Amino acid sequence: MKTRINELVELLNRYADEYYCLDKPSVSDAEYDRLYRELVELERANPDQVLPHSPTHRVGGKILDGFEKFTHLYPLYSLQDAFSQEELEAFDQRVRKEFPQATYICELKIDGLSISLTYEAGRLVVGATRGDGSVGENITENLKRVKDIPLTLPEPLDITVRGECYMPKTSFERVNLERQEKGEPEFANPRNAAAGTLRQLDTGVVAKRGLSTFLYQEASPTDASSQSQVLAELDRLGFTTNRDYVLAGSMSEVWNFIEKVASKRNELPYEIDGIVIKVNDLAIQEELGFTVKAPRWAVAYKFPAEEKEAEILSVDWTVGRTGVVTPTANLTPVQLAGTTVSRATLHNVDYIAEKDIRIGDTVIVYKAGDIIPAVLRVVEGKRDQQEVMPIPTACPSCDSPLMHYEDEVALRCINPHCPSQIMNRLEHFASRDAMNIAGLGTSIVEKLFKTDLVKDVADIYKLSVDDLLQLEGFKEKSAEKLYQAIQASKENSAEKLLFGLGIRHVGSKASKILLEKFVSL
Ligand code: NAD
Repeated sequence: MKTRINELVELLNRYADEYYCLDKPSVSDAEYDRLYRELVELERANPDQVLPHSPTHRVGGKILDGFEKFTHLYPLYSLQDAFSQEELEAFDQRVRKEFPQATYICELKIDGLSISLTYEAGRLVVGATRGDGSVGENITENLKRVKDIPLTLPEPLDITVRGECYMPKTSFERVNLERQEKGEPEFANPRNAAAGTLRQLDTGVVAKRGLSTFLYQEASPTDASSQSQVLAELDRLGFTTNRDYVLAGSMSEVWNFIEKVASKRNELPYEIDGIVIKVNDLAIQEELGFTVKAPRWAVAYKFPAEEKEAEILSVDWTVGRTGVVTPTANLTPVQLAGTTVSRATLHNVDYIAEKDIRIGDTVIVYKAGDIIPAVLRVVEGKRDQQEVMPIPTACPSCDSPLMHYEDEVALRCINPHCPSQIMNRLEHFASRDAMNIAGLGTSIVEKLFKTDLVKDVADIYKLSVDDLLQLEGFKEKSAEKLYQAIQASKENSAEKLLFGLGIRHVGSKASKILLEKFVSL
């Protein structure tokens, strides 16, 4: 039991770090929520084994370097989750036990990130992220570039308001298209795109990305007596509020609203991941109070992950920069969470074996409004004569024998000269968190490698403008721009260089620690 609790805490903390700090989640929210629930159950059954660093007792993520810290005068909280009608009923009963007369307000749960805005004498003085709820990052300059955030209020108020900053679907598509063209990695979903944008050190980029907000809370003392009045007041002060809310006297009215919104969710111009149900009366809210992590007067109903059936047509095996070989299924196209999906990850060979997934199988594909779609399981009863999936024994890129170490789920190519690995390493070296060489993305790396101009990272620095002009698609201006980006990268810290080299087990955090201790390479 203890080991499973340990394992879950480690895993969830890693996922939270990837989600909140790196803006690069590696699992879907549904998968995160599933593991989180498992941990909650285990902790409930074994209260003496709750670890101090358990994610069930903390809000959000850590504070990033690069921004000043901001200590919130009024802490920010998370929300308790509900995944079914029964769990909503249970929430309702907890509230009604003490306040039988309570009524609710149901708001859309906007999938962005929490922001806190502090105004003094009607002027915006601080805009901050939630951080761990007590201390966030001061991102005032970036938030000033979000068009619908008022810099001044119609009255000289001292007030702190809260809301969600998000990237509309149209901005998300445009930003990803631009990134694709530049060969930069695309954002996994609008939430990560918004979070990544607000942590930009260049405010100009924030202005261009097109973020928006919905405000929903007055954190400082308010004259309003209900949440609906708070929304009206925020509206009056010039904030953008979401008008798609309803008041509900009972859980059946709440459920009707949930069903109505769920059916038109894909038509909304922004992503939502559920409905937030709050006790409308602020006096009752105050009486109910908070747990360590969330208010007792609200619950977030989370939409189930969308799932569809599709047929596996074939499987591609690709080699990453560390030599890990990953299987991706090509599928009959299906509509999932508003996009057409024709590829889905199969994770690794152990996953394929465990779920007994075969080419030609009808499978369940899911996407929890985010991340690369994945194959969940095979639909039983729809299998004909499919054979067990052939697992490659040789590298799809360099043909050398693949290894499957006992302690690993991955298949690995261990040839250091494997072209796919080299190209992926070069791409990693140039990526934003490493040497940040804008323009050196997948397709350019491939051209440089295939024309023998670049075989390792050192070769990047031997390139001249004339070399680049030899490449298809390059003109004087684009060649000069990439050349300058390469030269500029020489000014990067040793930490970024070390991370960029892509040594196994030396990620950005380890690079930082190593250089703090040893100062230079
Ligand atoms: P949450 O996102 O489930 O709910 C709390 C947040 O909802 C608030 O902080 C606020 O920002 C937001 N919100 C949106 N609309 C709102 C409204 N109308 N009223 C009030 N709040 C509103 O909780 P959390 O603590 O921010 O994050 C936990 C969730 O994040 C998990 O359940 C999971 O889905 C996701 N997560 C995913 C990963 C991953 O690896 N995929 C990792 C960590 C967390």
